[in-house]
Amino acid sequence: MIRVTVWNEFVQEQMDEKRFPCMKDWKLDEQALASISANARRIRQVHGGAIHNTLRCVFEEDGQIEVRHVGTLEMEQCGLSEDVLKDTDVLVWWSHVAQQDVPDEVAARVASHVQRGMGVMFLHSAHMCKPMNRLLGTSCTLRWREGDTENLWCCNPTHPIAEGVPACIHLEKEEMYGEFFDIPTPDELVFLAGFGGGEVFRAGCVWNRGYGRVFYFQPGHETNESYLNPDIRRILRNAVHYLARPEYRREKLECLPV
Ligand code: ZN
Repeated sequence: MIRVTVWNEFVQEQMDEKRFPCMKDWKLDEQALASISANARRIRQVHGGAIHNTLRCVFEEDGQIEVRHVGTLEMEQCGLSEDVLKDTDVLVWWSHVAQQDVPDEVAARVASHVQRGMGVMFLHSAHMCKPMNRLLGTSCTLRWREGDTENLWCCNPTHPIAEGVPACIHLEKEEMYGEFFDIPTPDELVFLAGFGGGEVFRAGCVWNRGYGRVFYFQPGHETNESYLNPDIRRILRNAVHYLARPEYRREKLECLPV
């Protein structure tokens, strides 16, 4: 079985009830609070309470994948202790508004495990999360606009992540992410996105980092239903299979005298 840990910051879902550190500098007038509350209700409605619930279901549809742990920002060590990561073949990470509230120590631990063979998949707005930035070494900034249509084109049909996936997946409602996306040139480019506004985006990218693999996948804005699309779900499961390589797992990385 492939051991998966799903990590969701789990902040926007609760913003109508709780205040989080990331909100301290926000201008929260009545209109902003109403919008935050409506957003929280919508996310809970789409995702059965929380984004990690949707993701867990995606992976549990696969008899070869076991979701061993679910972590959130509020948990001790964000639910990503050394023991949890040792028990993880692939970490799946969704985050957005509270990226900077993840302790550096946790980000460093995740990056170290990836370099020593753990697979990691960063979803949608996680392009700005600390572990991804640390692993790629670039700003990962991009252009964005909420509320567009997307065509997700497969540009590498023989790639394992694209197995059984159509040439183009149309998403009626998705957030536009556009170039320039400040990432290192991907080792493998699997999907390209085109949006209603004419923008294009490298939407499915793989990088090798040490003994581990990193996959970034763009669809999945919190209020949209992209993760309910069967073809998108297939991509997420394919990616877990591709990223899981326990045979490459290392206890430590060292320079070997010869
Ligand atoms: Zn988004």
